[in-house]
Amino acid sequence: MAPTGGGLVPRGEVPGAAAGGTGFRAVLDVDHVGQVLLAALGPQGWWPAETAEEMIIGAVLTQAVAWENARRAIARLKAAGLCSLAALAAQSPDALAPLIRETGYFNAKARKLVALARFFAGKGGLDGLRRAEPAWARRELLGVYGVGPETADAILCYALSHPAFVADAYARRVLGRIGVMPASATASYEAAAAWAAREVRGDAAWLGELHALLVAVGKDHCKKTAPACAGCPAASLCAYRAAGTRAGPGG
Ligand code: SF4
Repeated sequence: MAPTGGGLVPRGEVPGAAAGGTGFRAVLDVDHVGQVLLAALGPQGWWPAETAEEMIIGAVLTQAVAWENARRAIARLKAAGLCSLAALAAQSPDALAPLIRETGYFNAKARKLVALARFFAGKGGLDGLRRAEPAWARRELLGVYGVGPETADAILCYALSHPAFVADAYARRVLGRIGVMPASATASYEAAAAWAAREVRGDAAWLGELHALLVAVGKDHCKKTAPACAGCPAASLCAYRAAGTRAGPGG
């Protein structure tokens, strides 16, 4: 879909300007939002990892902590020769924990890394999960100690190339304010994931790019309080901005 700035309205909503303009109406969907953001911001190059295994390790390490902390812990694991699932599967959590201390909850995260590495070993490695049916792979991942829905979807999308949408707080806030994600779906991760499974289309490469673009907008513009709409690449599409309100989903 070619990116355009105006004339589109969020599903179920008809802003006065669009309805009273040329009479043209179309449905604003997530794909269009993504195309507009991609045209404005360019490819984001996610996930920041050299290998799929490093991506998986980073997905655990960055839970509830800034990426910079996770990045430093990954560097330490690399220096110790432990930045692979095979190496982690052979470790004890107690031996691993001191190397990832700066990622917070490091004892729990060491347990999580070892559990996840052993899970992959028991499922035929990355290739075994890549060949699996996506919904089954998601259920299996959610059964691993320390893997919640956000971590599972990130691994599915960025490491296993399954078409999973990462419905994190950034995605819910940005899409909710723009008006393409209904308020009922912004309320929780799983509600948003269920909505995305029905409404968002694309392969893993596109869904991964879309998530990265939404994170960029969420970090730089669509902050939880007082969003910086001036200069936001989604401003021309956004119902929140059009309404001129400071309250809204996630706010
Ligand atoms: S225009 Fe404002 S409210 Fe809308 S997505 Fe951008 S920052 Fe968020």
